[in-house]
Amino acid sequence: MRFNKVLDNIKTYEAGKPIELVVREFGITPEDVVKLASNENPIGTSPAVAEVIRKHADKAHLYPDDSMFELKEALSKKFAIEDENIIIGAGSDQVLEFISRALLNENESVLMSAVTFAMYEIYAKQMGAKIYRTASWEHKYDEFMEAYQMYLPRIVYICTPNNPTGDATSKEEVLRIIEAVDPTQTLVVVDGAYMEYAAAKDEKYAITPKDLLGYEHVIYLGTFSKAYGLGGMRVGYGIAQSQLIKALYKMRPPFNITTLSLAAAIEAAKDETFVEKSIALHQEQIKRYESFAKENGFEYIDSYTNFITYLFPDEMDSTAISDALLKRGVIIRNLASYGMNAVRITVGTAKQNDIFFRHFAEVIA
Ligand code: PMP
Repeated sequence: MRFNKVLDNIKTYEAGKPIELVVREFGITPEDVVKLASNENPIGTSPAVAEVIRKHADKAHLYPDDSMFELKEALSKKFAIEDENIIIGAGSDQVLEFISRALLNENESVLMSAVTFAMYEIYAKQMGAKIYRTASWEHKYDEFMEAYQMYLPRIVYICTPNNPTGDATSKEEVLRIIEAVDPTQTLVVVDGAYMEYAAAKDEKYAITPKDLLGYEHVIYLGTFSKAYGLGGMRVGYGIAQSQLIKALYKMRPPFNITTLSLAAAIEAAKDETFVEKSIALHQEQIKRYESFAKENGFEYIDSYTNFITYLFPDEMDSTAISDALLKRGVIIRNLASYGMNAVRITVGTAKQNDIFFRHFAEVIA
């Protein structure tokens, strides 16, 4: 079979390994597998949300409300914006896809930091667009502006906090980049998938969709997958001026999230206590990861997310370490494919982290 030429150039997205795979390959019982690879919420989902999902089980034969009125109401209240500023996606991933399809083609290009969320590149390549990256994984104004002026990209991606590095870009720096690009030519995507964690850590890094709504050439992306604990339900959103949202709607298939996902997200949006609890646990547990790195003589990136990135010296090999942990039932993310001798670990519950530290210490000994 012949496929579109653009496919030759695309690497399939490598998702975090599922628990089932470790069970199958290494014969470990599911209860003994610790999955710290996909930045899921370690405390699960809010009990109220789980209850709503169960209650909606007998509505599985009905298509969801395609207007997503209630979810948009909840989001507009939360962010002090209007319904017309919102588009819902099957994860913020799907909103990224709508954006790429609405703006890119083989004559266009996109700009992003050296190491950032893999789907920006994949969606852009699907459209035949060129990819440009800055030299650093941090979002540095000077590097972005130099590349911007050279390539005049159609989309600039700012992932803050950034995945898979965990660092964040201050609101001031993000606004500086936004104001320096040509609003008639370039869309700036501010991907705030982990924003709840950054905002709780340091308000200098807190960006709300409303902060950006004055710009016609900016879209803010958020998700229910992380702090809200709904990764398995696949609900994310894009927030922008209505003209942009209307254009993205042309790319949207009908009923793009499920009846259960919609009900879950509506309930999750009401339960801020669960988010606060998730963040409090995270802030307490991440300190253990920082101390562990210091005690064992390697570096980490100061994290504004629900994960931490360990940077290894040459004598520690991220691939060997990740593989050895996997055989012990501990799944983390090796960043070798990003060109880094580093691993990304989702901060788990106290118990999961105990298990991680025990195995990790044995593996590096
Ligand atoms: N953006 C970033 C930076 C992410 O890390 C992720 C999830 N890995 C997404 C977007 C997509 O999240 P979702 O589709 O689950 O909303």
